[in-house]
Amino acid sequence: MKRKLTILGAGESGTGAALLGKAKGYDVFVSDMGQIKTQYVQELEANGIEFESGKHSEERILESDLVIKSPGISESAPLIKKIRAKGNLVIGEIEFAARHTAAKLIGITGTNGKTTTTLLTYHLLKEGGFNVGLGGNVGKSLARQVVEDQHDWYVLELSSFQLDDCYELKLNIAVVLNITPDHLDRYDYDFEKYIASKMRIFHLLHLGGHAIYWSDDRQIGRNISKANDGLKFHPYSLGGDASEITNDRLFYTPINVEISAPRADISIKGQHNMLNAKAAGYAASLAGVSDEAILRGFKNFKNAPHRLEPVREIDGTKYINDSKATNVDSVYYALDAVDAPIVWIAGGVDKGNDYSLIQALVQNKVKGLICLGKDNSKLFTAFENLVPSIQATDDLIKAIRMAKDLAAPGDTVLLSPACASFDLFKNYEDRGNQFREIVMELA
Ligand code: ADP
Repeated sequence: MKRKLTILGAGESGTGAALLGKAKGYDVFVSDMGQIKTQYVQELEANGIEFESGKHSEERILESDLVIKSPGISESAPLIKKIRAKGNLVIGEIEFAARHTAAKLIGITGTNGKTTTTLLTYHLLKEGGFNVGLGGNVGKSLARQVVEDQHDWYVLELSSFQLDDCYELKLNIAVVLNITPDHLDRYDYDFEKYIASKMRIFHLLHLGGHAIYWSDDRQIGRNISKANDGLKFHPYSLGGDASEITNDRLFYTPINVEISAPRADISIKGQHNMLNAKAAGYAASLAGVSDEAILRGFKNFKNAPHRLEPVREIDGTKYINDSKATNVDSVYYALDAVDAPIVWIAGGVDKGNDYSLIQALVQNKVKGLICLGKDNSKLFTAFENLVPSIQATDDLIKAIRMAKDLAAPGDTVLLSPACASFDLFKNYEDRGNQFREIVMELA
């Protein structure tokens, strides 16, 4: 008899898992509490895969041999608890896909910089001529690629939720970029649990696998000794010997060779991106990419939009879209990366932000703050005595006009919200796209 596989959630990862399950001979059933996007409905139908939307048929789900859950579904959801109570296996799409490929895997996690570093690492491997795929939180799901593409290597962006659903995944190389408070609602508001979830990536390495991490990060530093023995550790740092990332060069030491890249020749800018480049350079070197290919790749890499994305220059004022900056830490690095007086557009849905972490930097660099959101009170309180000008609106067009009026030649208008976007926008992409469009239309 065919083994019964249920997939909870039919987004890109769920649909990919369904296709892979079918290819591997499972009796596949897909169940989604919400609406399934038309493209996935069509795909499931075309492949003869049974599905339901708007409900979970519990009885049927509880009979499964294996359940794959979307990372959006919390472990504490009643249905998951019931499945577990029956003793049935619940895993994530990454774990499932990895069981069906012999490809080598690079996993990248961290609170900020995952997408950038994952894309850059992927780019460096491509530049090195590798047959490599990109998966996890970005692009096509890993499961789909295991069916359709069959690469030799995959570079995976792994959120803490995805890591939580992995058990026997065996990575060849793992990276932890940084750990600051985020998503605490899924971790019982316990930062230690979130840290443990991130650090778990090192337990998902092969014996002898490469563990790359930013050693200046307090939380990583404090917890690294709990990682498995039998790994090869590769810490990287901003300094210590203070020379590692200088004003004009990035150095890193994969294996025993020191490589140095002129900072001007790295396409992504700002201190945080030097760290991301370092991590990606390490991972690529350890995978076997040549130094020449890495240096070439640093130079011609183009990052995803909404991450310190230069939009346009008008009358000597630069406009930058950093809509993806949805927490305080990423705003810190954005402000730090801009070498000019800043008119800062921020605000949205607060995620428990502690603005004291950036008050000094804001006082130093920001000449005007435009609070953009339904409720701007927290931003106002945090910054009203620190910036010369502070205004508020719940309309992006008005916010951009206010910023334009305030900005002088040589200034930078920076959208870097520190908040989620759901009060006024569909998501951060929508917010960034609207910002770009409005700025492009400014007279
Ligand atoms: P993630 O996928 O982890 O959300 P992204 O690469 O999409 O990370 O970047 C998200 C935001 O964080 C951007 O605003 C970016 O400027 C900022 N950022 C990128 N790398 C880092 C880093 N290493 N440390 C802190 N902030 C970063």
